[in-house]
Amino acid sequence: MKRLLCILTAALVSGTAFARDFGEVFENATLRLDYVFTGNSQSSQIAFLAAYKTKVWAGRRGNLDRLPLGGNGRIEVLDPENGELLYCNSFSTLFQEWQCTEEATRVTKGFENCFQVPWPKKAVDIRITLTDKYRRESASLTHTIDPKDILIRPLKTKNSWRQIHGGGGCGEKIDVVIVGDGYTSRNIKQFWADASRTVSVLLGHHPFDSLAGRFNFIAVAAVSDDSGVSVPHEGKWVNTCMSSHFDTFYTERYLTTSSIRNLWFEIAGIPFEQIIVLSNTARYGGGGIYNSLTLVAAGNNKFAPVTVHEFGHAFAGLADEYFYDDSYSDNYPDGVEPWEPNITTRVDFEAKWKDMLDAAAEGVGLFEGGGYRSKGVWRPAADCRMRTNECEDFCPVCKRAIVRMVDFLTSEKSE
Ligand SMILES: [Zn+2]
Repeated sequence: MKRLLCILTAALVSGTAFARDFGEVFENATLRLDYVFTGNSQSSQIAFLAAYKTKVWAGRRGNLDRLPLGGNGRIEVLDPENGELLYCNSFSTLFQEWQCTEEATRVTKGFENCFQVPWPKKAVDIRITLTDKYRRESASLTHTIDPKDILIRPLKTKNSWRQIHGGGGCGEKIDVVIVGDGYTSRNIKQFWADASRTVSVLLGHHPFDSLAGRFNFIAVAAVSDDSGVSVPHEGKWVNTCMSSHFDTFYTERYLTTSSIRNLWFEIAGIPFEQIIVLSNTARYGGGGIYNSLTLVAAGNNKFAPVTVHEFGHAFAGLADEYFYDDSYSDNYPDGVEPWEPNITTRVDFEAKWKDMLDAAAEGVGLFEGGGYRSKGVWRPAADCRMRTNECEDFCPVCKRAIVRMVDFLTSEKSE
């Protein structure tokens, strides 16, 4: 899927020498934080909406003060007394993709975003930072959260759910929630089947197959009023839980949802670190946004390769390795090294796969064309699951990035 991505990140991936143990500063519960990001092609602002509490913390308990990847934004939990970084995570957003569209030159819009951090034992500062494609800070908001605040609403599980794979130990495993959009009460049997198929597709694909024991998958039965999803270019609109629709940013096959808060209410109370939304449609489409969500058309015959590709974006922050022959895109500008592990502008190739190239790893090279640009961006292999649906496998660099992410998230102690 073409991600209309224009964004990059800030420095990052740094840790302090004396990271705290999880139990020193956090409890086994989740603080959900909702924001609105507003702006246009020139500016960005962040506004805080609300905080919620749910039982159980599903995220990592080690590497708390280190970012897995740069991302296009980050959320940080800080000790207000000394500024010590207690927890951080990185993400990308649909809002930042939209900022690169023509529409963003004409109008200011707002996008919902939800994040979760471990529940703090005492008051903390929360800092949200967005960065632009030049890795410059474009917006930042810092506010205090006191866990004793009476206006933090507790949330309970809303929908019925099933454990599809794994079980228990969500502190040590990577928790993925699968939820359906456009499944009515009559379609729920189909949803359970589609959710199981999703897990089979992902865990049957290398390298996830060899890492299956480190994942939990839970399916949540969200019930929509109407069956199917909206197709605006045909004038077809339906009422579904997450209002997912084609024609995102007026691109026909780009299937996403902007109803992030509704989505999070549907899966409230379920421990998760990654969200996969199955849209009940046979049309080709989907999208994947790093640490935000994976969305795929469950009934399409390209379901399997698209699911793996989009999850590559959402889980491992992998970039698209495809490009357009004659169209210039400035998503990844010259002179700026992308944060994604599988493309490079050769500004800092050392930080990418130079070691694998030097070691003459099989199938690894430096191929010009990637990140939507035919010139000035390089990818690691002739073909990869992040380039075409026809390619069976991830390239060696993408495989390594997935394994590294799994190791990072399941390490109990800071390294
Ligand atoms: Zn690759």
